[in-house]
Amino acid sequence: MTQLDSATQKRTLRSTSLAQEALDWFQGHCAKIAPLSETQVTCWNPSRGTKLWTIPDCSNAHVDQAVANARAALPKWSATLPAERAKYLLACADVIDANKDEIAHVLALETGKSLFKECNGEAVLPGSIFRYFAGLVHEIKGRTIQAGPDLMGFTTRHPWGVVAGIVPWNVPLMFMAYKVAAPLAAGNCVVIKMPEQATASLSMILKLILPLLPEGVVDFISGTGAKAGVALSNHDDVDKISFTGSVETGSLIYQNAARKMKAVTLELGGKSPMIILEDCDHAKAINGIIGSMRFTRSGQSCTAASRIYVPKEQFDTYRTALADALNNLCIGDAMDEGTDAGPVVSLAQKQSIDAYLGQAKSDGLDVVEYGMLSVNAANSDGFFIKPHVVYAPDHTHPIAMEEVFGPVATLTGYTSLEEAMTLANDTKFGLSASVWGRDINQCLKCAAGFRAGIVQINQNAIMLPGFSYGGVGISGVGKESSLEAMLETYMYEKTNIVNFGD
Ligand code: NAD
Repeated sequence: MTQLDSATQKRTLRSTSLAQEALDWFQGHCAKIAPLSETQVTCWNPSRGTKLWTIPDCSNAHVDQAVANARAALPKWSATLPAERAKYLLACADVIDANKDEIAHVLALETGKSLFKECNGEAVLPGSIFRYFAGLVHEIKGRTIQAGPDLMGFTTRHPWGVVAGIVPWNVPLMFMAYKVAAPLAAGNCVVIKMPEQATASLSMILKLILPLLPEGVVDFISGTGAKAGVALSNHDDVDKISFTGSVETGSLIYQNAARKMKAVTLELGGKSPMIILEDCDHAKAINGIIGSMRFTRSGQSCTAASRIYVPKEQFDTYRTALADALNNLCIGDAMDEGTDAGPVVSLAQKQSIDAYLGQAKSDGLDVVEYGMLSVNAANSDGFFIKPHVVYAPDHTHPIAMEEVFGPVATLTGYTSLEEAMTLANDTKFGLSASVWGRDINQCLKCAAGFRAGIVQINQNAIMLPGFSYGGVGISGVGKESSLEAMLETYMYEKTNIVNFGD
């Protein structure tokens, strides 16, 4: 294994010690809740393929206690004045912001996402999300219905109670923030299941916010989905589950929740189309592909524009331009300043992506690999996969239909916009879609025709507080990240009817 350059090595060492400090604190915190679980989960450094540390696989007894603590805190927290809850959220935002650089470093180390191209940007989001929901507390309002001279109805909003938030590893800081700030603003108490691969960075956040909040209002648990995740999502005393992750896990959670009549919100996977119109500026389209496909996150994005459609007569031009752009990307250690895209998160993820690519190649598809692997990446056991494009695949091939969740896009030529729209909508997913071009009428026509929860014109890959986020089809149920999401996802509406008659 080659040595990293001294700046990268220094960052790695510093991040390891910050992470270890947070994990030691988290172990101590867990021990106060329940006897420490005998089983630990090993976490790996995706950039080096080496062991990093272990985390507790929280036991059923631990989950029971965390949920009981949340239940005990609920009456007081839900009765706290909205303006008071906002103050707590603002204090959390400040302390997270003040530590965002360290958090970004640890996130890059444990997830393999590039520190400079991904993690520094992600670490800014929790503060802004906590502030956004702090600002919304006064929007918790009902409606009135005058049904007759003496009969009036009015609605009031109420928190569900105890919310279980289950977070994925690909954008863990952001999803944690949505699943903590929105339910707290609405008056719920929250237990978060951290993803195994982002436990250190999220423990840093827990350590910062726990002393600022009333006891029991928030807690985070760690461990595997099979143990800690199941124990939390199946818990009888959890009123609402907010899950972000794969379709397979989401489906299991949905089925189990149905048996107990629990409310659920599911933000699941995608296989998102991107249609480039004939009049689109080529440079803009290429930049759009690199950003929309999240190549700098090695394609590990639920909204990744992994199916790209271009006019057939421009196919070769796009092929050449895409090759040039992708060949400029440097794939390397997440902590290295020169890295455009880090490794994928785990060996299992790499094997799954390699299997898709292997099958596509053995089926005779036109699969091309791009990008430069840095020397330290080439000589490490890290989980690196260079960007790939599959040209004009059979539309029904798994690589064109299933979520690969890696740096793999397909490029297909279309002869008419109708054909492009038919191909774009020929999917069971329905998370996101985008259209790129100068003719706004054509763009709006596509936007109207897409079957997806989020549609973007001349941009992609944006999830800002205020824009409702969520999919249709197998991409999920319900919304996150907006006022409507806070009201509808984290509160129920009560109808009150008054008769003024004698
Ligand atoms: P995953 O489903 O494997 O895990 C997500 C979380 O669920 C983790 O914390 C995991 O420990 C937990 N978990 C696993 N099994 C569980 C179970 N049986 N019961 C309860 N919890 C369980 O997903 P992942 O690999 O972490 O994330 C990648 C997937 O997430 C992709 O499919 C991606 O598209 C999707 N995703 C969707 C969105 C969205 O907003 N729609 C956003 C990000 C990621």
